[in-house]
Amino acid sequence: MNLETESIDLLKDALITLQKGFAGLPAFDSKADLDAIAPVLQQVALRMRDNYPYPHPFYAGQMLKPPHPVARLAYTLALYLNPNNHALDGGRASSAMEKEAVAAIAGMFGWGARHLGHLSSAGTTANLEALWVAGKLHPGKSIAASAQAHYTHARLTEALQIPFACIAVDSHARMDIDDLERQLRSGAIGTVVATLGTTGGGAVDPLDEIMRLRRRYEFRVHVDAAYGGYFHLADNLGADARRAFDCIDAADSIVVDPHKHGLQPYGCGCVLFRDPAVGAIYRHDSPYTYFTSADLHLGEISLECSRAGAAAVALWATQRLLPLTRGGEFARGLARCRAAAVEWHRRRAEDRRDLTVFAPQLDIVLWAARADTASAISRRSQAVFDACARAGLHLAVMKLPTDLLRPHWPQVEFDGDGDGDGDDGGDGDGSSSDTVTVLRSCMMKPEHLDWLQRIDAAYRQARDSVG
Ligand SMILES: *Cc1c(COP(=O)(O)O)cnc(C)c1O
Repeated sequence: MNLETESIDLLKDALITLQKGFAGLPAFDSKADLDAIAPVLQQVALRMRDNYPYPHPFYAGQMLKPPHPVARLAYTLALYLNPNNHALDGGRASSAMEKEAVAAIAGMFGWGARHLGHLSSAGTTANLEALWVAGKLHPGKSIAASAQAHYTHARLTEALQIPFACIAVDSHARMDIDDLERQLRSGAIGTVVATLGTTGGGAVDPLDEIMRLRRRYEFRVHVDAAYGGYFHLADNLGADARRAFDCIDAADSIVVDPHKHGLQPYGCGCVLFRDPAVGAIYRHDSPYTYFTSADLHLGEISLECSRAGAAAVALWATQRLLPLTRGGEFARGLARCRAAAVEWHRRRAEDRRDLTVFAPQLDIVLWAARADTASAISRRSQAVFDACARAGLHLAVMKLPTDLLRPHWPQVEFDGDGDGDGDDGGDGDGSSSDTVTVLRSCMMKPEHLDWLQRIDAAYRQARDSVG
C-alpha cells in the first residue's frame, strides 16, 4: 500500500507563507531536535503498522474513511499555530473559517443564514448538545429514538437525566411509524430522534412520515445524520431515502459528522439548530473566558470549551476544494460509494452461498453466510469474516435481532442460539439468543466501486474455504 507522500512538499511552501504573516515580531525561532525526534518517529511508524489498512479499498469493514489530502495538510498546517476555537482570542482566523464551513453545511441542508451551529469533537458531543437543548425546551418529556439508533442516544439521555423511549424498527431497520404514533399518543414524548443513516445497516428513518405525525402531535425533531448526512447530495438514492432527506430542512436540529463521510480527520462533528434563539440556553458566565471582542465567540454556543481550530481549518479547506454541491465532485464520490454498495448487495444476492437482508439505502451492506439455522448462520458468517481477514480483505460483523431477520429468511430455522460466539450453545447465558451474527460492509470509499471485481474475487475465494 503506497501512502501518498508527495503532498508533504506543499506543506512546507504553505508554512513559509504562514510564517511571513508574523514577520513584524522580534526574531524568534521555534526549534526541533531532529536527532532526538527521528528515532521516536520511526518507532511510531513501526507501531502504526499494527493497524488494519484503513485507506486501502480492501478495508471494507467499519465506518472508516481516509481524510482528503487537503484536509490532512490544512490540519497539519494549522497545528503549527494550534488555534483553539473556543474563543476568538484563541482562534480568530480558524473561528471565522469554522463559521463559513458550518454555514456551507447548513446550506447543504437547505438552511439560510438564520441558523445556529458549530463544530464539535464528534457526533456524540454534537448529539449531546442537541438532546440537551431538546430537554431544556421540553422539560419532563422523553426523547424517542429507534431501536437501531446510535447506542449513545440512550446513554446521553441517561447522562442528561431525560427519560428515553425506544421505538421499534421495521424489517428494514427503519423507525416503525405505527409504534412511534402509538407512543406519541401518550403525550410523553417531547423529541423524536430520526436517524438518517443508521450506523449498523445504513437505514434511513422515514422522516417524511415523522414530519406528518408532527402535524397531529407536538414534538421536536432532531435528525441524527452523523453518518448519512452528506448523502443528501447524492443523485442515486432510492425513493424512500430521497423522500426522507428532502424534508431534512424541517428538522429542529441536525447532526452530521464531517469525520465520517466528510473526508475529515477525527475530531470533527457538527451540530446545527434551525432556530438561532436556542443560543440563549447556552448562556454562561465563566470568569476564565477571555472574551476581548463583542463578536460571537463559538464558545458561547458550545457545550465544549476547547476545540481544535485545526479541525475547522481542514474542513474549510476541503469545502473550498470540493464544494458541497449537487453534481459536484464530492457528491459524485458519495454516489460512487452508494453504487458500490448496491452492486455488492446484488452480487451477494446472486451468490447461492449467501443470504441478503435488505437492499442498502446508503452505502452499508448487510448479508450472511447461508445455512439452515440461525446458529449455523452466525457461526459461518463469523468464519467467513475470519477467512476474509486472513486473505487481507477486511469486513465487519454485526448482531441483528431475529425479529428483523425472520421476514427476510422464511426458510431459516431460528433455533435461539444465533449469537455466533463460536460455541454450540448450552452455555446457559441466553443473553444474546435473540440476535444473529451477520456480515457487514461499509463501502465508504469512492474507490470501492472500481475495486469491486477484485474484492468479490477475494471474497469468493475466502468464502470457498468456509463451505
Ligand atoms: C457515528 C455515529 C454517531 C456517533 O458519532 P461519533 O462521531 O462516533 O461520536 C452518532 N450517530 C450516528 C448515526 C453515527 O453513525
